[in-house]
Amino acid sequence: MIIVFVGPPGVGKGTQSKRLVSHFQLVHISTGEMLRKAIGEGTRVGVEARDYIDHGRLVPDDLIVELVGKRFETFPSEQGCLMDGFPRTITQARSLDGLLEKLGRRVDVVIELVADRDEIRRRLLDRARLEGRSDDSPETITARLEIFDRQTAPLIDFYRKCGSLRQVNGMGTPDEVFNRILDSIRS
Ligand code: AMP
Repeated sequence: MIIVFVGPPGVGKGTQSKRLVSHFQLVHISTGEMLRKAIGEGTRVGVEARDYIDHGRLVPDDLIVELVGKRFETFPSEQGCLMDGFPRTITQARSLDGLLEKLGRRVDVVIELVADRDEIRRRLLDRARLEGRSDDSPETITARLEIFDRQTAPLIDFYRKCGSLRQVNGMGTPDEVFNRILDSIRS
């Protein structure tokens, strides 16, 4: 099973991804984490991506496709996988389809986690205080939400047309949200 997980920053994707990965024993592909690692290691992709991330902008598609393409070189061809924060644009979605096609696989389900915008801002500001992520300042939070609406929302329409989209309410306790996600996968 290949699951794509989409939703605005702060909607709870990180928390729910961890649960899904351990529940279904999935390989976890998070481009945000891969990019933060690349930055920490000072690789070329990390150096090129840093400024975009710090300003809350999307890293260009070619860099993301390069990063994920490398990850796919060692992709276990049978195991289930959770794509977390990737794809974020239609171009990335088409690249993902191409990578999966070579393995004779395809995206099985796309989960869109949705929550109230005020709640999302509150969660992001709390995270900024707790984790000190460089892209969680109030200005960057606004930019990331705007960019989500502009660049990632069309991706959701793309998956809706493919028939693989499941919309899940991300409000409530982590347990409640997780149970809704499980129900949506089973449906
Ligand atoms: P995340 O941890 O998924 O919230 O990602 C943190 C930041 O990394 C985002 O705000 C983007 O700047 C960048 N990023 C992560 N994944 C992608 C992607 N698939 N496409 C473009 N930029 C990305």
